Amino acid sequence: MKRSPWISHYNASSCNGCDLEILACLTPRYDVERLGIVLRESPRHADILLVSGVVNMQNKDRLKRVYGQMAKDKYVIAIGACGISGGPFHEGWNMAGPVDKVIPVDMYVPGCPPRPESIINAIAKLLEGLE
Ligand code: SF4
Repeated sequence: MKRSPWISHYNASSCNGCDLEILACLTPRYDVERLGIVLRESPRHADILLVSGVVNMQNKDRLKRVYGQMAKDKYVIAIGACGISGGPFHEGWNMAGPVDKVIPVDMYVPGCPPRPESIINAIAKLLEGLE
């Protein structure tokens, strides 16, 4: 896992800005697969969960379920201002709080949206910390 983490992505009602940056990491320009990082659809196969967007009352339980499906050892990275604090939606009536109020978060990537380099750097730092 430390050398070749598999990653899953959960969009908690993001505006898609963060999601586009995550997807950009897979393009030939950034090509994270050359670093051994692979995106998987199923959280059951993933070591790291990337969460973008605002966690709200509607998707809170879904996020908990997705996290529960991951095998141990598992790690979570909150992507963007929405995941960290609620960002522009922090006063929303159905806001369930930042990601770390719902599931444990190991790393935060600030920005609205963060650049692909920041996302890749966060994954690298997380792996470095596990060494
Ligand atoms: S942090 Fe910014 S770009 Fe990312 S989901 Fe929130 S509003 Fe969109």
